[in-house]
Amino acid sequence: MSTIQDKIVVITGASSGIGEATARLLAERGAHVVLGARRTERLQRLCAEIEEAGGSAEYHALDVTDLQSVQALVEQTVARHGRLDVMLNNAGVMPLSKLEALKVQEWNQMIDVNIRGVLHGIAAALPVMQQQRSGQFINIASIGAYAVSPTAAVYCATKYAVRAISEGLRQEVGGDIRVTLVSPGVTESELAESISDEGGRAEMREFRKISIPAEAIARAIAYAIEQPADVDVSEIIVRPTASPF
Ligand code: NDP
Repeated sequence: MSTIQDKIVVITGASSGIGEATARLLAERGAHVVLGARRTERLQRLCAEIEEAGGSAEYHALDVTDLQSVQALVEQTVARHGRLDVMLNNAGVMPLSKLEALKVQEWNQMIDVNIRGVLHGIAAALPVMQQQRSGQFINIASIGAYAVSPTAAVYCATKYAVRAISEGLRQEVGGDIRVTLVSPGVTESELAESISDEGGRAEMREFRKISIPAEAIARAIAYAIEQPADVDVSEIIVRPTASPF
């Protein structure tokens, strides 16, 4: 029997792309999914669709750059369900540009969402999991956590950071708590829409032609969750077969 059944799973950035696909798949496999993002009308629609299909879901407004917002989401989840089994730190942004464009605000946004957002997820959920003596963090990095390319220096830096934080966390809390890093290659989603640089957008459209569906990443996440409690799938890279990167 799948160990996804009846798990309480918090998903940040569930309003589109990989978060949305993962919410649908895990709910289909019997988890209760707690969805967080800023665009609540989308979450409301997704919740309704999941429940119509026989699944179980709820949603909350969430801004991962705000520690209190992430803490509130975790607190409400534990108050309602008595526990938290999986914290999926998925929310991310990718406004790519060359460093010489000096888009300092966008650098800060990537640091705030991609790094601080993950740290806030850990700060909110770790005490709960330590008290339960069980749980799993799944942090979404990228192939950009393993190699750097032009226009992606800051984005890759944030994803290298997520990889480092995840490995450090795994070493510190292993025993009761599992830590999994999932690193997608190009995947269908709205991620490239955060690119404000016109040249970068055009390049990315070309690069993204080989994208795999978001469900491919959702299946990798499900695989990591459904392993027995003493098996920690620490790192997974899922990329298009045609990807040179
Ligand atoms: P999407 O743009 O489709 O989804 C990103 C999600 O993050 C949205 O639900 C968005 O919701 C949410 N988000 C952004 N900022 C915040 C915030 N401040 N607070 C809460 N939620 C926020 O892209 P993906 O599905 O592709 O991205 C998911 C993860 O996958 C990211 O970490 C990304 O870096 C990673 N990734 C994606 C790849 C790809 O090719 N698609 C490749 C490698 C990694 P809202 O705007 O409603 O708040």
